[in-house]
Amino acid sequence: MDTYAYELNGSLYLNITNRCNNSCTFCIKYKNRNFEDKYSLWIDKEPSVENILNAIGDISAYKQIVFCGYGEPLIRLQTVIDVSKALKAKGASVRIDTDGQASLFHGRDITPLLEGLVDEIRISLNSPDAPSYQKLCRPVFEEKAFKAIVKFAEEAKKHVPSVSLTAVDLPGVDMQKCKDIADKIGVDFKMRPYYEKTYLSS
Ligand code: SF4
Repeated sequence: MDTYAYELNGSLYLNITNRCNNSCTFCIKYKNRNFEDKYSLWIDKEPSVENILNAIGDISAYKQIVFCGYGEPLIRLQTVIDVSKALKAKGASVRIDTDGQASLFHGRDITPLLEGLVDEIRISLNSPDAPSYQKLCRPVFEEKAFKAIVKFAEEAKKHVPSVSLTAVDLPGVDMQKCKDIADKIGVDFKMRPYYEKTYLSS
């Protein structure tokens, strides 16, 4: 059965699509369609807003509600907005883990739409430049992707209280150069450990 919501470290993670702008060489979905052998994160059917809210249930037990999963959540922008509105009305803290290509994908700056709905956004940078990003993350937007991600972070900072760039600790990734980009924009930087078993997408 498809898993649309699952608890991890005190937060509830939402899994709303398999679709993605990337096909990262390290993505767990190419290795295992189930997460931790108990959650079916490769979904047969994308959930509706109602399906997602039903899967969430009572939010009071969770630190944060996090859009993440086996695909890029902001591909389903309107669904993320509608679910976030319902969650904020209940007082939830909402986070999005994203590949940062939503504005490129939708053809306009979508970051103003997140204002007041999203408390935190973590943007996967994973590389310090476009050529290494293309090699590691294999974006459909090719050389346009990296520049769009940096721009997305700059714009998100204007509308979302907490913004960070992240990079997975993989061999050959220059963490200092990734952090330098975050510093230049004025957002946080988080290095994410790569654990074969527990690594989450985006
Ligand atoms: S790691 Fe994230 S951005 Fe990369 S292919 Fe997987 S879901 Fe997409």
